[in-house]
Amino acid sequence: METKMKGIHHITAIVGNPQENVDFYAGVLGLRMVKQTVNFDDPGTYHLYFGDKQGSPGSIITFFPWDGAHKGRIGGGQVGTTSYAVPKGSLSFWENRLEKFKVSFSRDERFGETSLVFNDPHGLQLELVERGSGKVNQWTAGEVTSDSAIKGFAGASLLSANPELTAQLLIDVMGLEQIGEDDEFIRFKSTADIGNIVDLKKEAVARGRMGVGTVHHIAWRAEDDSDQLQWKEHLEKNSYPVTPVQDRNYFNAVYFREHGDILFEIATDPPGFSIDEAPEELGTKLKLPVQYETHREQLKQVLQPIEVRLLD
Ligand code: ZN
Repeated sequence: METKMKGIHHITAIVGNPQENVDFYAGVLGLRMVKQTVNFDDPGTYHLYFGDKQGSPGSIITFFPWDGAHKGRIGGGQVGTTSYAVPKGSLSFWENRLEKFKVSFSRDERFGETSLVFNDPHGLQLELVERGSGKVNQWTAGEVTSDSAIKGFAGASLLSANPELTAQLLIDVMGLEQIGEDDEFIRFKSTADIGNIVDLKKEAVARGRMGVGTVHHIAWRAEDDSDQLQWKEHLEKNSYPVTPVQDRNYFNAVYFREHGDILFEIATDPPGFSIDEAPEELGTKLKLPVQYETHREQLKQVLQPIEVRLLD
């Protein structure tokens, strides 16, 4: 096995009201809702997935909308900022778009790249940065067309409770390459062309608190089931306890907590989101795993109705 991690598969966060979540990620950011399902461990809440047109690994952000739940605090043991890659030359389009939807933002500069920094409606920290790499996203939503559409993750910043050990894991175990360092961050790169940059905050960060507006975990890509098992063995050999494989319907997942307290997952690229819906219908209906199909009517009464709306 090549012990070099490809990149980020998905990022999962806890947010508030589900319709506000859909309006922001589909309506404002122009992502495609590629799946509406329920939290397999808690089927009375949604699990919503947004990504590029195909729902490609490296573009997927997923949400547990816990409407009315307590607010979290972003801090150590979490992803800090989720960073999205937009096409070269599109940042001014995004500035105008954020202004149009009254999303306040600031400009930041890191490792020679300018980014737009803002929060989603529930406090999750996001960033848009121009990147040349990554496939063009053909999904259009209102004024967001392929010239400007988010291609996937640029990467993420990690807030570790123990940055030294997190860096060791990224380099020695996961095979990422250190490509930069400034006063605040060390920058690492993985091999994929999207979701391939991680900025690790050098200073240990006081523990955050899980809740609305925080990232729950970050998932990395395995090519298939056998690649995933090899990663599991490789991590266990390096003294990271890894969970058994869990069937998440759209991928298989294993989880481990790294020594800086951040929850990592390794998820398989296949089978993907077309396993239970035609590619042109992704995200249009509530999809349930077999074990909950018999409870569909009860679940529909608990889950608030949501719709993807054009807000332009
Ligand atoms: Zn996950």
